[in-house]
Order: sequence, then structure tokens, then C-alpha cells
Amino acid sequence: MIDSEFVSSIAKVLLGSRKIVITSHTNPDGDAIGSSLALYFMLQKLGHDVNVVVANSFPSFLGWMPGSDQIILHESNASKAKEVIESAEIIFCLDYNAIQRSGSLKDFLKNSQAIFVLIDHHREPELESFALFFWDINISSTSELIYQFFCGMEVNNLIDKDIASCLFTGIMTDTGSFSHAIGNASTFTTVASLIESGLDAADVHSQVYNSMTESRLRLMGFSINDRLQIIEKYNTAIITLNKQDLIDFDYQIGDTEGIVNLPLSIDSIRLSILITERKDYIHLSLRSKGSFSVNDLSRKYLNGGGHLNAAGGKTFTTLQQTLDLILNFLPEFEKELTHE
Ligand code: 5GP
Ligand code: MN
Repeated sequence: MIDSEFVSSIAKVLLGSRKIVITSHTNPDGDAIGSSLALYFMLQKLGHDVNVVVANSFPSFLGWMPGSDQIILHESNASKAKEVIESAEIIFCLDYNAIQRSGSLKDFLKNSQAIFVLIDHHREPELESFALFFWDINISSTSELIYQFFCGMEVNNLIDKDIASCLFTGIMTDTGSFSHAIGNASTFTTVASLIESGLDAADVHSQVYNSMTESRLRLMGFSINDRLQIIEKYNTAIITLNKQDLIDFDYQIGDTEGIVNLPLSIDSIRLSILITERKDYIHLSLRSKGSFSVNDLSRKYLNGGGHLNAAGGKTFTTLQQTLDLILNFLPEFEKELTHE
């Protein structure tokens, strides 16, 4: 639950009308965009001058979201991104916990004199970068934390349909449509309250999940049929997609989301890894079942991190070398992957 010290400190910081920038992580997902836009609308209602700035674009299945056309993308509007960050008095960092994770915004952020506020649910935050922080790894999503923040500030009565839709998008996508990270009753009471504020949950679900292109669905099929390896000894599934695969399926940002979860539906699989060859690095997405920590694994070997059961990472070698690295470290985890 949100602590009253954070609420009173932030209430002081938000006195008057302030210049505020909301940022989130590079390659923003549903929770990054949902939590940012919800906070954006609320702070506007409270009379602040607010902008949302992220490094690069978000998947088209989030393009329906109210306010998404107002988001400043550094990759396509660098001068505006720089200008608003430089003039910000307060900078919110949502759904990420280390300035490095903001991608191309990081140098602007490091030079800023603004008050930095962290609201996040990832493991091992770099708290020294933030003047104020509210983080809880046991909460489903940053969007749920934003809801708690609104309640703490006693502005939850101002949640309207747009804000509710943004918060629900973050909760729904970060829980895989309520299939994981749902151990707290608070996730469901939050959603119940959002419905009372005008949320049409079925409509939001459909906008996000029933808006695929044919090529994206076929890329999923190809990933399973042609690119999935099962390493039985370690209860591990690995999918590798090379640059040509992405070209063949007319890859658009967001098209590989969800693929890494699919192998977890096999009873024996405890660890699933998607390796994707990007323009100048190798991108990794990791998922696990049970107590196996992909956050720890990624921090140790893959230059990333995240949550217990969902994490990301990066390497700067080749696809084959990344695969070899994984095959080399798997034996270290044999016990954890084969005994529950
Ligand atoms: P995804 O596989 O969906 O890209 O990422 C899974 C989760 O791990 C998300 O919550 C994402 O924000 C987080 N994540 C992805 N990459 C990194 C990383 O490099 N560092 C940290 N700390 N978290 C990451
Ligand atoms: Mn999140």
C-alpha cells in the first residue's frame, strides 16, 4: 500500500501549477504507455503543464489509447523532447527503475535539475537517482501503483473513462490478461473500481488483443513451427528469430510481443527465451514458471533484468553466440529448472 510519507512529499512538490514530464522505458509496452497517459490526464486535471516523453514508438495495438497522439517520441521529435525535459521542474519515471532504461532520453535526464519521482514495480531499483520513490515489486503493474497513488492523493474521484481505460490496459497487459501477477485481491478491486469509473473492459481487451495483422499471427505460427527448440534436460524452450525472419513477416514494432509466453503452455517448460536479432543488438525476452528468477538470470548473463517471471535483456554479439552463451550457462541452473 502507498505510504503516507510519499503522498505528503509529492503533494508538497505538486503545489501550484508545475511543469511536469512523464517518461517511461525504451520500447514502451502497455503498462508503460497506460500508466503514463493515466498520470498525464490526472495531472492535467489538477492544473499542471504536462508532457509524456519516451525514446521510441509503441506497438500499433496501443494506438487507440486516448492521448497516445500527444506522446512525444524522441526518435522522431528530438528537439521537442529535449526542450520539454530541459524545462521540466518535475520528472516522473514510470515502469522503469534505472535512468539507463529510458534509452535515448538518458543523457537529457542525467543533465536535468528537475525533481525525479519513481513509480515502478521492477526489482532492484537504482533509488539513488530519485528524490521521491514509490515502488513495490508485489504489485501487478505500474498502472495499479498509479491507481494507488491517485487514491493516496484522494483524487480517485477524478478518474474518468479515459484514465480508467489507460490504467486497465497496463494492468491487463502486464498480467497477461489476468493469468500471472494476480496474487493480490487489490488487482481485482482496482479493476472493479475502474469499471465503476466508466471502463469498458471488453472493449479495451478487444482493441489490444484483436487488432493483429495477418503477418503478425503468421509470425507467431512460424516461431512455434520453425524456430522453437526444446531443451528437455533443462525444461527450457528457446525461440530464435533472425533479421530475415522479421523482414519475411513484415515485422512492425510490437509484433513479437506474446511469443515468448507461448512455450510456457507446455507442461514441463519452466523457462522460455525469445532471442531476436535487431539492427544493432540481440534482444532477449525471458519468462519462467514458479520460483525460477529470470531477473537474476538476466542480470547475471544478459545485461538486463525485470521481474521474477518476466525479464528482458540484450547482447552485442551474434544470434549464434547468444544461443551458445545460453547453452553454456543452462547447466548452472539445472537443479532449479528441474526440481520444484
Ligand atoms: P519484455 O520481455 O516484455 O520486453 O520485458 C519483460 C519485463 O522485463 C518488462 O517488465 C520489462 O519492463 C522488463 N525489462 C525488459 N528489459 C529489461 C532490462 O534491460 N532491465 C530491466 N531492469 N528490466 C527489463
Ligand atoms: Mn510494468
